[in-house]
Amino acid sequence: MKVAFIGLGVMGAPMARNLLKAGHEVTGFDVVNKGLDALVEAGGNRAGTIKAALEGAEVAITMLPDSPQVEEVAFAEEGLLASAKAGLLYIDNSSIAPPVARRVSAAARARGLRPLDAPVSGGEAGAIEGSLSIMVGGKAEDFEAARALLEAMGSTVAHVGGDGAGQTVKVANQLVVAGVIEAVAEATVLLQASDVDVPAALDVLAGGLAGNRILDRKRASMLAGDFTPGFRVDLHHKDLGNLLATAREVGVSLPLGGLVAELMAALRARGGGSLDHSALLLLVQAMSGRDGSGQK
Ligand code: NAD
Repeated sequence: MKVAFIGLGVMGAPMARNLLKAGHEVTGFDVVNKGLDALVEAGGNRAGTIKAALEGAEVAITMLPDSPQVEEVAFAEEGLLASAKAGLLYIDNSSIAPPVARRVSAAARARGLRPLDAPVSGGEAGAIEGSLSIMVGGKAEDFEAARALLEAMGSTVAHVGGDGAGQTVKVANQLVVAGVIEAVAEATVLLQASDVDVPAALDVLAGGLAGNRILDRKRASMLAGDFTPGFRVDLHHKDLGNLLATAREVGVSLPLGGLVAELMAALRARGGGSLDHSALLLLVQAMSGRDGSGQK
């Protein structure tokens, strides 16, 4: 298929590369050059504007940081909605506020486009491997039309409901991820403060009922104090804000969600916004009066 890909950052660049590998034609647009250079090197095309990227496209994919950027790309004078031909499949893979997703999808539908809100989970590694989980809201027939593209980027792809449903599932995902990171961070600080072999202890945790993807993928870098993103604290802070707003909207109470949102906010307020979210370990260490290797 002919795909316009807008937003070639940490996630978008490898996702676009996987579309090229699957034989699709990809034209990219971004406000910075780095991802565009990588796309061209991988066999894609560069466009100078959203409108140029959309020329002849059957599908548009956006992978942008947050709601304001998605609205800007969608609603700009020569933006996506104004430039797209009727019938275009419009897949937003960004993680944004569910009400914004519903608004963007309604406006796109009113212009004859076929919108899907389709946020992803699996991190940069999942984007590179093409093994993302992709949770999709929108019409079932549009999901079916997009399935082959989504399966080129992800290995678990599910239609979870109507407009905005993908984003609602994503905030639930981000609650679980933050909660597990916090649990791993607290366990690590406890172990570091005790007379045990910490790497061996985390290995044995990873093999039992406490095993999880955070331990699998991040325990080595966390112990080494390497918090190169990955997934930035700033972005997870945004997602946890969307989580709490969604909880209010549907009228449920999420005590752990509130706690991890505050911890993520504290890490960010202390200057950790650009670090990987596994840097929650640094916050737990600081709260216990310990340095980055867990020592007093
Ligand atoms: P990123 O900041 O690395 O990439 C975003 C890209 O969008 C950048 O290249 C930026 O230049 C571009 N951009 C911003 N405004 C633009 C505009 N108006 N027009 C065109 N391009 C514009 O972010 P990322 O880590 O790739 O994350 C993208 C989305 O995916 C976010 O919503 C994030 O929450 C979500 N996400 C990220 C991860 C991860 O591990 N990084 C995992 C799952 C989901």
